[in-house]
This record gives sequence, C-alpha cells and structure tokens, in this order.
Amino acid sequence: MPFCDDSFLLSCPAAASLYHDVAAQQPIIDYHCHLSPRDIAEDRRFENLHAIWLDGDHYKWRAMRANGIDEGRITGAATPREKFQAWAETVPATLRNPLFHWTHLELRRHFQIDALLDETSAEAIWAEANRQLATGDLTARGILRRMRVEVVGTTDDPADGLEWHERIARDRVATKVVPTFRPDAANRVHEPQRVQAWARRLADAAGCGTDTLPGLLAAIDRRHADFAAVGCRATDHGLLRLPDSDCTEAEAARIWQSALAGTAATPAEAEAFAAFLLLHVARLNHARDWALQLHLGPFRDPNPRLAATLGGDAGCDTIGDAVQGPGLVRFLGRLAAENCLPRTILYNINPADNALFAALPGSFQDGRLAGRIQWGSAWWFMDQERGMRDQLNMLSDLGLLSRFVGMVTDSRSFLSYPRHEYFRRILCDLVGSDIASGRLPDDAAWRRDRIVPLITGVCADNARKYFGW
Ligand SMILES: [Zn+2]
Repeated sequence: MPFCDDSFLLSCPAAASLYHDVAAQQPIIDYHCHLSPRDIAEDRRFENLHAIWLDGDHYKWRAMRANGIDEGRITGAATPREKFQAWAETVPATLRNPLFHWTHLELRRHFQIDALLDETSAEAIWAEANRQLATGDLTARGILRRMRVEVVGTTDDPADGLEWHERIARDRVATKVVPTFRPDAANRVHEPQRVQAWARRLADAAGCGTDTLPGLLAAIDRRHADFAAVGCRATDHGLLRLPDSDCTEAEAARIWQSALAGTAATPAEAEAFAAFLLLHVARLNHARDWALQLHLGPFRDPNPRLAATLGGDAGCDTIGDAVQGPGLVRFLGRLAAENCLPRTILYNINPADNALFAALPGSFQDGRLAGRIQWGSAWWFMDQERGMRDQLNMLSDLGLLSRFVGMVTDSRSFLSYPRHEYFRRILCDLVGSDIASGRLPDDAAWRRDRIVPLITGVCADNARKYFGW
C-alpha cells in the first residue's frame, strides 16, 4: 500500500466515501488554537521553513531532544538552516510517532512535496519550501484561505490589547478570527513578581486598579465585556486539577493581596485561588452564554534544569496523574446548583481519565441545548491516532458522538491544519467500518439523513452552532 495516499487511514470503501465525499468537503472550525492574531493581522509572510514550521513547535523540540540533538540546534544559537537539518535528521527516528504523519501530510498539503524528509532530502525540501514561502500565497491569511478555515479561536490574555483582532475585523478577512479569554496568569499567586507585573498590565488594559480582589474582579469583568465586543465566545483555563475544597471571598482576597505584597502563595492556596477565580469567570460566561473550556492535567516544567534554561512551553511538560473527579464534580455541581453552569468543554491530558471525562458531562446536561456539556477532543499527548480513536470510541459508548463539537489543532503553527484531515480520516474510518461490519445501517436514506449529518456535524456544524458562529 502506498504511504499516506488518498486512502490513508481509510480501511474500507464506506470509510473512503464518507471521507472524500463528505468530511473532506467541510470547512474547518478551529475554535481553540494558539496562532498569533498579530501574524493574521499583518498577513505575515514567513522568512523560511524554520520560522513557520519549527520555531515555537515544542512537539518537534521534544522529539529532537529525545533523539540526542543538542539544545543549540533546537532552541539555541544554530542558524535556521542548521536547526532544520537537525529536524530532518530526527524525522526517520519518529517512525510510528504522529510527528512522522503530520510532517509528511504538511509537506504534501501545503507545498505539494511528496518526498520523505530525512538528512539527505533536507536541502532540496528546504529550497523548494522556501521558494514557495517567498513567492506563493503561503502567508498567514493565504494558508487559512487555502485550508478553508472558516473560524479561528486564538488564545488571549485579558491583559493583552485587542488591537490585532480589531484590525482583522476591519480588514474583513474571509476567516472569522475571534479571541478566547484565558486569565490563567492571575493564578500565578505563587510567583509574586510575575503576578504583580501581570496585575499592572491588566490594570492598564482595564482602566481600573487591581491591587485588591474587588479591583481584580472588576478588571476581569471589564475585559470580559471588551472581549465580547470583538466576538469572543469562550474562555479557556489550564490547570493541573480543580481542588476538592471551597475558597471563600475573604480567603481569595487575602491570597491575592499577599501575593501583590510579595508573599508567595502555597501550592494549596494557589489552587484554591484559581478555583475561586474560575467560578467567577464561569458565572460571567453563563451570563453571556459563552463556553468554558477546561484543559486539565499536565505537570508543568517537572525538570528544574530545563525549566531554568528554557522557560515554559518548551516541550518539557508531561502527563500528570492528579485525581480529577472530586474537584470537577464539586465545581460543576456548585455552578449547577446556582443555575449558572455555562456551556462547558472538558479536556483531559491523561488517557486514564477518559472514562471519567466521557461519562461526567451526561450528569450535567440539562436538555436546553444538545451537547451543552462536552468532552473535548484528544489533546496534546493524546493528539494521535490511538488517542483520537480511544476518545471517539469512548465518547460513542458513554455519550453522543453525533453532538460532539470535534477537533481543534491547539497549535502554534499555521501549517498544522492537516491535523483536521487526520482526525476526519479516523472519524470516517470508525463510522465506515461500522457500516461495513453491519454495526451501523447500510441504507441509502439513513446514510443521507443520519450518517452524513453526523459526519458534517462533528467536522464543522456542531462547533459552528455551539459557539453561535
Ligand atoms: Zn491550547
């Protein structure tokens, strides 16, 4: 069988037909990613293949480190061409890792380069890709257009300005680009200097003082409203876990003011403060009918040596094994009791939590909106064929696959859009294989009226409806 051809991951004719005739025709709704709104506003033309493909891609950095590449050729002083060579040398070592598939799908879909990347093909691929980047329509906006990306949800700090989003909206870019409100910086009460600097930036952005808890909450409220004015429809929160305890307003005020006065919160205090703030934001989301996205479970920077030299988000994090159930049940239960539970998407990073995250939404659905509480797509360490198959199968077993809001790239790179193709092929293979084996009806009317809407729903329609786009 040819590598990565039209029938890639599609094991039967029913799967191939669902993918080529239905899924591949759908636009992309990328409601959670980390693309730079500035790059879209300026329609950035990337200087070379390193700038668009390796710079900032911690998945590749992590693989290169595991392959024995020295840091100088990953994030250090080496030239972009030398770093690309280090990546090319690493690609053959990624056989059976999703990076091997992503790499070749991205070369094929964006650059029409079918060659396999290794240290011998690197020079020719570097030259051809750079030629296309310099002269073709592979700019930030051009890529979104070519990949038929209908919506991009970026991830934005409430202390950041919204000028890039405003400029994109003024330019009437074909892709709708909206911010996502991510206030995680407020939770760094265990790092007083960092949280002090952030509190000052937030105060400037919101135009009100943040040196007391009521001031912080007022600033959060103002920025939530500012984000709403430019089309924001969701918040996003990254936490190890939610604590199985309550935090009073008085406790939260003490923790905040201590941090601003230079006293670091203990880990338990930081967790309690984060949960307090999250409840506040969840209530705001409920009032505006926004979605709340909870990304739970990674251990951040477990290696102090790497953290000290590379900083955060450099490919040094890992899967955590914190107990998720009690804190999640407490959090969702409290909001449900107040009748303030917003649309919510729960993402786990540890596959051992799949059953918990698949089943729990069913306990909080309220019949007002199909799929109001969602188990989010396989993310980060689960974003590969096995992780996606496991997530889709368990969601089918314990929830409603037909109401799933589907895949997100969660990527920092404009070249990551073939990950939606990867997901869609897997989805169509699961459903098509069930048709081929008699587990789902092989019936023309059901295909047209039930199976095809399931595929188009999971690919794009459900997310579009869920976020109101
Ligand atoms: Zn993310």
